Amino acid sequence: MSLETESRANVLAATGISASRLAALADRVDADGSETIEVRAPATDTAVGAVPDCDGADVERAVDRARAAQSSWAETAMDERREIVARFGDLVLKHRAELLDILQLETGKSRRHAVEEVVDVALTCSYYADRGDAAFREERRRGAIPPATTARVTYEPVGVVGAISPWNYPLTLSLTDVLPALIAGNSVVLKPDEKTPYTALALADLLERAGLPADCFEIVTGRGATVGPALIDRVDYISFTGSTETGRLVAEQAGRNLIGCSLELGGKNPLLVLDDADIEEAARGAVQACFSNAGQLCLAAERVYVADSIHDEFVEAFVAATRDLTLGTGFDYEDDVGSLIDSDQLERVERHVEDARERGATVLTGGERRPEVGPFCYEPTILTDLEPEATAACEETFGPVVSVESVPNVATAIERANDTEYGLNASVWTGDRERGVAVAREIDCGTVCVNDAYVSGWAAVDAPMGGFGDSGLGRRHGPEGIKRYLESRTIATSRTGPLDVPPGVPTAWYARGMFALARLQQRLPTVASVTRRLRDAGF
Ligand code: NAD
Repeated sequence: MSLETESRANVLAATGISASRLAALADRVDADGSETIEVRAPATDTAVGAVPDCDGADVERAVDRARAAQSSWAETAMDERREIVARFGDLVLKHRAELLDILQLETGKSRRHAVEEVVDVALTCSYYADRGDAAFREERRRGAIPPATTARVTYEPVGVVGAISPWNYPLTLSLTDVLPALIAGNSVVLKPDEKTPYTALALADLLERAGLPADCFEIVTGRGATVGPALIDRVDYISFTGSTETGRLVAEQAGRNLIGCSLELGGKNPLLVLDDADIEEAARGAVQACFSNAGQLCLAAERVYVADSIHDEFVEAFVAATRDLTLGTGFDYEDDVGSLIDSDQLERVERHVEDARERGATVLTGGERRPEVGPFCYEPTILTDLEPEATAACEETFGPVVSVESVPNVATAIERANDTEYGLNASVWTGDRERGVAVAREIDCGTVCVNDAYVSGWAAVDAPMGGFGDSGLGRRHGPEGIKRYLESRTIATSRTGPLDVPPGVPTAWYARGMFALARLQQRLPTVASVTRRLRDAGF
């Protein structure tokens, strides 16, 4: 047995996933050619399997199948769609051990962070099964001249939705965009990242077992630069999660094709510790915010601003809590922080830390790769005295590296937090939640969590999630997460025939009448404005 084969056998044995199970998952992809892409386990840097390297023709067939299946899916009764989603949520929990194993196998993350993904998917399923249809129920709106005219809005699925997902949270970040599209009556073609296709294929397997009709959910595996553009050229909407750089390409192509798109992109997220914060709690929160998934989390904090009155005490607690973290690649619950995904990611993290060091930053803890733990493992790292021009200060590191800076007051903390092109997530720590909310209102981010790192914001599935500025366009989660996948149609009726000059009436008289009507409408308070005034007056 070659070393590579032995290593593959060992890593699979540690997970309980067989090579034949992975091959069966790969078989779900319909590809004409024989080219494949190797999938490697970051824990050992071993090839564990291969999936088809799809081309444009494969994408075209997948989209055609999805399109053919979509109309009957859109006609399926809402109760039946709801039941399929609920059954799928149950299956995800029932098969959690396999999902956790596959997630760890292809991402190298620790099991505790894989758990977040499985739990999130189950919560997302219950939310959309329960509340999803509220976003596309027919609505009555105010007509032009009530009651002479009426207006109502109906919602239709856009058709075939394309989804492109990243490798860092391959389960959550696929499903969270796929599920609302499906529940709204669209079919979906998903392109997972080439490093993490098996998680997406396991998802497809469970959706099929839950009763989703054939071809409503298709997966095309392959390279981003080939499969991505081919998909965007054929679908009716594209939902993208990944880097800002690729997001711009996706937006350009979607713009040319005049299709809608949502873009969930990068971040350089701030964490603020105010002078009244509980220091131990804030330090624990900062550890979670900075080092979850080895920092390969779009919501992770990479900049910490601490009130100078508690700076030293906070840093001491933060460094101590970080040193307590265990680094490892086990397929059990022993390790706190897992591996980075690959050598590119490891090199990026090292480059950021080396550049920071060369520019005079102090490494308070960490700062080294740990090959004896895993080929791509890197220590959770805290920097201080980081030069504003340092790469780690300007660019997203997307790894276990954070810088800490002391600030004289809240206004400066907010100013520093907003001093970036990004605006994805922020975290504020304070002893006074109302003060935290007031600070949150000043931060230019799509999500701000008070006295929490990121979980309370992400897991509030009923509330929108997305980014300001270079962190993206559009929102996922909540009704907004469904509305993006719908076409609205306004149906207006007139009880009095055409709204035009009546026969025999001079146009000047008609014009006078219309001006009088417009004036009347301006003066007549609407129900909404009366309600608002009553509420403002304290009723
Ligand atoms: P990436 O942009 O390189 O890849 C993301 C996906 O896009 C992959 O599936 C990839 O195959 C595909 N892709 C690559 N080239 C493409 C092209 N030309 N056209 C269409 N698709 C293409 O992202 P990455 O660097 O692998 O992922 C990390 C980045 O993703 C980080 O910046 C992170 O912050 C961001 N991210 C954002 C969120 C969010 O919700 N905002 C979540 C996770 C990750």
